Amino acid sequence: MTAHAPTFYFPAPRTQKFCAACGTPLSRRIPPEDNRMRDVCDQCGAIHYQNPRNVVGVVPVFGDRILLCRRAIEPRFGKWTLPAGFMELGETTAQGAMRETQEEAGAQIELGALYTVIDVPQADQVHFFYLAKVTSAALYPGPESSEAAFFRLEDIPWGELSFRTVSTTLRHYVDDARNGSFPIHYYDLPDVDTEQG
Ligand code: ZN
Repeated sequence: MTAHAPTFYFPAPRTQKFCAACGTPLSRRIPPEDNRMRDVCDQCGAIHYQNPRNVVGVVPVFGDRILLCRRAIEPRFGKWTLPAGFMELGETTAQGAMRETQEEAGAQIELGALYTVIDVPQADQVHFFYLAKVTSAALYPGPESSEAAFFRLEDIPWGELSFRTVSTTLRHYVDDARNGSFPIHYYDLPDVDTEQG
């Protein structure tokens, strides 16, 4: 092997070219007794199923303000976002939401109720946002965030938000705050442009 290392790293595309079990190039076809196109290995028989991914995050509330993070990574570099990211293997949605909050904002929170569940079929994702109470003003944003800050609801930078799952969740929050009631919202964004790091 050479000592070559890539100059940067990135998430591998979901489309697979080679069988993870035996290394043979894959065929795109409907396997026996199935009804969907899959990546199939004609050498060893492995079927490489793909399923939607979960993005988990929080609406971090500190008194009358909301905690947002400014993204220091692509996509949407420099845009403001709620703490959120891809769920990891072996964790619950709640654990993932708390982990992302720690990683991106370094904020101390108490997790509350599930607040939005958003299907994003175009991106093969489902997003879950929990309400959360921020328990300390101290923030320690990690490398994925250039800064973290509290915003009054009237100061939310609507034109500078990262993703429509974030802006629609915040819109629900602002509307619900007027009524003082925060029921769960389940909806879909069929044409959304979203992928979180
Ligand atoms: Zn194979």
